Amino acid sequence: MIAVIGGGASGTLATITLLREAAGRRLPLRVALIDRHGRHGLGRAYSTTHPAHLLNSPVGAMSALADDPGHLTRWAAQAGLPQDGFLPRSAYGRYLTELLAAAERSAQPAARVSRITSQVVAIRRGSHGRALRLHLAADGRIDADAAVLATGNLPPVPPCPVPQGDRYIADPWEPGALDAAPDGSPVVVLGTGLTMLDVAIALTDAHPRTTVHAISRHALLPREHNWPRPAAAVSAMPVIRRPGGTLRITRLIRDFRASAAAYPGDWQDIVDALRLQIPRLWEQLPEADK
Ligand SMILES: Cc1cc2nc3c(=O)[nH]c(=O)nc-3n(C[C@H](O)[C@H](O)[C@H](O)COP(=O)(O)OP(=O)(O)OC[C@H]3O[C@@H](n4cnc5c(N)ncnc54)[C@H](O)[C@@H]3O)c2cc1C
Repeated sequence: MIAVIGGGASGTLATITLLREAAGRRLPLRVALIDRHGRHGLGRAYSTTHPAHLLNSPVGAMSALADDPGHLTRWAAQAGLPQDGFLPRSAYGRYLTELLAAAERSAQPAARVSRITSQVVAIRRGSHGRALRLHLAADGRIDADAAVLATGNLPPVPPCPVPQGDRYIADPWEPGALDAAPDGSPVVVLGTGLTMLDVAIALTDAHPRTTVHAISRHALLPREHNWPRPAAAVSAMPVIRRPGGTLRITRLIRDFRASAAAYPGDWQDIVDALRLQIPRLWEQLPEADK
């Protein structure tokens, strides 16, 4: 039994990888995919249902399968969705959920996944032949041979003292967090990045007379993508051409900045090109740098 804690993109992709491995080697496998909010296949980023909450990268750069970069583009075509540009995040959630279901079907009957909605509150040494015992908030327990921690980022910390009460929303991505906000009263958003845009879209859609004020230290807004863009000149980037061996994060950042400075096109091309290389580069980083 493998317990995957967190049902977001990371936990889902880890489960898909385990299922594919089990199917390929005809191994029996049980996976418990545990998410405290029941957001299996979705997590924080892809559980929004608002159609104007978009992915921050184009379709061609968001395949969930490292060995098949065109996978999402083909899925989008079959689903009748645009094959370039930026998909709604809810569509990406559907993509991940369907991918998980397909991996389950291919690995059955030897491999199975149970989706559990509960919060893991402790992991202790196990007994009865299992290495680990997971304790769930709802008093349950799961005995597992291994656990994958895919719990995402830590919740945001308040940037200054804040009043208690329902007029301060610490995390807009918690389920139902914004439900009480669009009542026509003005709303202040701390931060002027993509989450601010998503929050403003959701609030003003629900109540068009809501005024949203966004505050940040430099009042910098997200820059528009130039779109459509030519394919990135991947081979021109030293960081991408780096062969095997150990890589230091400082070196990676220096190479990245140098590539961006020397590249005549948009710096976003370099981010997109780097994205496809992340698994390999991650493997090359020493533990301390990860
Ligand atoms: C609003 C938003 C939009 C984003 N858009 C993009 C995008 O367009 N493209 C992109 O590449 N990246 C995007 N990201 C980055 C995104 O975080 C990653 O792409 C990816 O979705 C992270 O997945 P994750 O599984 O690591 O984390 P999460 O999605 O945070 O999933 C972690 C899950 O673990 C669960 N969990 C946590 N603790 C426990 C516990 N103790 N017990 C049980 N369950 C637990 C949580 O409920 C959550 O569902 C976005 C992020 C956010 C917040």
